[in-house]
Amino acid sequence: MSYTYSNNQYLPYNELIGLYNWEILGYSSEERPILSTSIGTGARKICIWAGMHGNETTGIHIILELIELLQSKQIDLTDFTLHIIPVINPDAYVRYTRRNGMGVDLNRDFRAFQTVESAKLIGWIRMNEPELCFNLHDQRTIFHVGGTSAFTSLLVPSSEVTREITPQRRAVMNRLGNALAAMEHNLSGVGRYTDEFYPTAVGDYLMSQGIPNILIESGVAKGDLNRSQAREFGVQVIINTLKSDTEECHVYGELPVNQQGQLEWVFTNVLYAHMRVDVAVKRVVAMNGHHKAVIYTVDDLGDLASRPRLYEIDATAVGLAEALIVDRPITGDFGSVVFEDGIIISGSLEE
Ligand SMILES: [Zn+2]
Repeated sequence: MSYTYSNNQYLPYNELIGLYNWEILGYSSEERPILSTSIGTGARKICIWAGMHGNETTGIHIILELIELLQSKQIDLTDFTLHIIPVINPDAYVRYTRRNGMGVDLNRDFRAFQTVESAKLIGWIRMNEPELCFNLHDQRTIFHVGGTSAFTSLLVPSSEVTREITPQRRAVMNRLGNALAAMEHNLSGVGRYTDEFYPTAVGDYLMSQGIPNILIESGVAKGDLNRSQAREFGVQVIINTLKSDTEECHVYGELPVNQQGQLEWVFTNVLYAHMRVDVAVKRVVAMNGHHKAVIYTVDDLGDLASRPRLYEIDATAVGLAEALIVDRPITGDFGSVVFEDGIIISGSLEE
């Protein structure tokens, strides 16, 4: 395997298929192959999947990097067999959207199993009888921990509404905590995802069935909108969790719960229709052929001082003539950058 998409660029599905000697587990609703592979011969079974939401692609890169590390013998996981699905929802992946080809969110179909993709996934998990699963997603840029962007959020899901820490859940928390401690990584920017119980979500359903699992949500950090930091961290979390044991450890429980409300770019103090306002701009990414296209939209405007942000630009000298409409592509001359219908036509934004 020669994997050259290290900066998390969008990997066309046809290229992913050709990148490795995958097996075909089944077909999506639009009859794209759902790829899988198994690596190793150890007795301890692990299931790892990504691409449940097609516009969340960091997990696919985490998986490809893991495969490369195993193949080049840079890591040794002799006791384990890794069962892997790089993209469980290929129809959404090729469109870079959340929902499957039938318009259903697989992460809300994990009780009825009416989509072919979620039926395949649960059948594959049950067949492999894993001791632990890793469920890889990307989180939106709104998440922060105490004002610092949450570059990764982790969750050991609840198994029922009271969110009780059952012995099984405690064991997974311990194992993950020991892994985080062993990594000696600065955990600033690592959050815990809410453990509110969602009966139709994959991780919660699996816990309710006694199948232990960890959700890894890859996010952005300041200066890293491509989520490279999250990708590297995700790979290390998986490797170290496999190596760690369930001795009592509270590192996971001590992670701060992530919060919402973070903005991307904020232009402060803009003169706009006789007012002084802060203008928040965000990126919206969609597919244009085989390439991701970026559109910048108005996220919010007004007094945004209380909201954390990734980037702030003093725009006291800026006077805007154009109307700002929330959720619409932005037009306006902000001095260091000029937007027209959501496209940058001169200057640039820090990423
Ligand atoms: Zn997701």
